[in-house]
Amino acid sequence: MSTRTVSDLGERALIDRIIARLATPSWVVVGPGDDAAVVAPKRGTLDVLTTDIQIESVHFDCRFTPPEAIGHRALAVNLSDLAAMGAEPRLALLSLALPDAMEVTTLDGVIDGLLALARAHRVALVGGNISRSPGPLTIDVTAGGTVHPRRVLTRAGARPGDEVYVTGTIGDAMAGLESLRAGAGCERCEQRYLRPEPRVRAGLLLGRNRAASACIDLSDGLADGVRRMAEASHVGVELDAAALPLAEDVRQWHEARGHDALDAAVRGGDDYELLFTVRPAHGGRLKAVRRQIGHLPISKVGIVTKDPGLSIRTPDGVRPLPEGFAHFR
Ligand SMILES: [Mg+2]
Repeated sequence: MSTRTVSDLGERALIDRIIARLATPSWVVVGPGDDAAVVAPKRGTLDVLTTDIQIESVHFDCRFTPPEAIGHRALAVNLSDLAAMGAEPRLALLSLALPDAMEVTTLDGVIDGLLALARAHRVALVGGNISRSPGPLTIDVTAGGTVHPRRVLTRAGARPGDEVYVTGTIGDAMAGLESLRAGAGCERCEQRYLRPEPRVRAGLLLGRNRAASACIDLSDGLADGVRRMAEASHVGVELDAAALPLAEDVRQWHEARGHDALDAAVRGGDDYELLFTVRPAHGGRLKAVRRQIGHLPISKVGIVTKDPGLSIRTPDGVRPLPEGFAHFR
């Protein structure tokens, strides 16, 4: 059994080890291994670019996050941002800062997870860079996609009267993270935290059908997503507590611990679902999305208001929306 570390192997060998695993499509004119990648543009489309960093102990905990999940999440968070713009993902760049003592097999696992998700979404890894880290493992991914000019989704298009929707279920990942920390075995939630599925197809369909007036992905929780979308669109939102898609195991998880399940699900981050708005007149377009999307549920969770406040309607009355998760708060 090999216990070689990344410092035993050295930068050049590590890079070659990753490059050997890559398949490069024909539109990549100069691929990994040169000073920079050269790619042919996709005709008739705009480029959409995003970047997101994952730092050990800030974004993930190696004690319960397997290497493969670390790699998966590093790309997934970027694909989720592309999905929120209605873009089709196309390429990624990867910057790694590795602790000297990290085992080569751990690095292999990180790359396994990243490349498996890349393959699933036909994303080409076109370049990157490796450095040693005096501290935590750091994975910085830049991703690029394409979108037709008339299909771009942004946070800024919501208008009073628009309906508010969310894909999938909310609060799963936070319950999963709590379960992992506690070793409590809430398996479905743990998987939702470790291997979030970026809603690439949902974003594409919302754009293609021109169904959404605004869209954002839920990296830091529903409350945070609602707040950011409302700010960008200069509107308010009233959510309906009874309509929020909470999975039964998430409800039970919080109730067993004496937490307010609704509050926890609204605040909890890392779900990577899409939050979007639809004009009342565009119900037919949303219907088309639902038809094409397959198994992924889409729930109507509220309404856009002219009044800029953010609130949630519960059986006990209307109360202000809680804060979501944020760095540096
Ligand atoms: Mg985002």
